[in-house]
Amino acid sequence: MTYHADEKGYYGQFGGAFIPEMLYPNTEELRQNYLQIMEEPSFVKEFRALLKDYVGRPTPLYFAKRLSDKYKTKIYLKREDLCHTGAHKVNNTIGQILMAKRLGKTRIIAETGAGQHGVATATVCALMGIECVVYMGEIDIARQAPNVARMKMLGAEVRPALSGSRTLKDATNEAIRDWINNPVNTHYIIGSVVGPHPYPDMVARFQSVISEEIQSQLLEKEGIPNPDYVVACVGGGSNAAGTYYHYLDNEDVGIIAVEAAGKGVNSGESAATSALGKVGIIHGSKTLLMQTQDGQITEPYSISAGLDYPGVGPMHAHLFTSGRGEFISITDDEAMTAGLMVSQLEGIIPAIETAHAFAIFGQRKFAQDDIVVINLSGRGDKDLQAYIDYFKL
Ligand SMILES: *Cc1c(COP(=O)(O)O)cnc(C)c1O
Repeated sequence: MTYHADEKGYYGQFGGAFIPEMLYPNTEELRQNYLQIMEEPSFVKEFRALLKDYVGRPTPLYFAKRLSDKYKTKIYLKREDLCHTGAHKVNNTIGQILMAKRLGKTRIIAETGAGQHGVATATVCALMGIECVVYMGEIDIARQAPNVARMKMLGAEVRPALSGSRTLKDATNEAIRDWINNPVNTHYIIGSVVGPHPYPDMVARFQSVISEEIQSQLLEKEGIPNPDYVVACVGGGSNAAGTYYHYLDNEDVGIIAVEAAGKGVNSGESAATSALGKVGIIHGSKTLLMQTQDGQITEPYSISAGLDYPGVGPMHAHLFTSGRGEFISITDDEAMTAGLMVSQLEGIIPAIETAHAFAIFGQRKFAQDDIVVINLSGRGDKDLQAYIDYFKL
């Protein structure tokens, strides 16, 4: 029994590669090569060196004393907010740009919603001197001006997606179209553990450096490598996949996934994909997604732009349906309150995505000697305006 992907990219009944015929050569080239490339000593060496010297890894595992006192349990924070660019996403884009180079690709495309993945992609393209095109919904371009400016400053071209709801899923469709038209020279950097096989497994492996470091850091601090619980917020699920990775098959370690309930799970304005989702296919993967009776994808809502994806990665769909993971839904209000609390208790302003993970202590009690590791996926600088508006600061 394993909670990792099988060789066809299935996590239980979820995953696989449901793609148009014309995309087959692209994903097939990646599928046939990704594991071998990731194991090459020269790849490992270059990846590790960039994570250390460019990203700033290992990120600290910090014992949050005041938070622990407040909730009467032992809380550690894995500080992905201290990564270059301010979140975990760069772990994946560094891995994928090196993969693209090994595959002989000279052009990168990506999709982005809030712009965070676009920035992480534009960053590594600048680092490597590779052409970068980021697709972004026209509505999102207007909403996320600072990240659009960052991408442009980093030398990327931001192409507006003008169809449909002009948001993330439309940008993804445009990126897929581009990839079909440019199969030889272009690599598509997907930003989370979503999409057709091998993306979910490949991205999880790149992000697994998070749980690898937690194991050795906890061993140093507590004399044991395994906490009682690992906690992460879930949008597509990449920071969560990285946090759980080395614990997936160790059932002594509890897995807690935190989803965005928006204005309430049953309010009609939510992004609680597992709680509300039905089995379906989105962006080449069989998973749980929010959809209408006749299978139209429902537009998700969350105050945090990084969590409002209508689907969830297949690993998480499997963790949910198998019961291996405990899924908790957190509303906008609960998340914002938790974000302010962590800022004032620990001197760390978290991203609103991450603030959802901190809000679980309002719903979920832990034993006094439990060790709970929360992945602090990103810093809140990008969300300052949202905090200001919400709290009238
Ligand atoms: C993008 C983002 C997320 C959500 O993406 P996952 O793939 O679910 O990790 C969470 N936190 C931060 C800070 C982000 O930027």
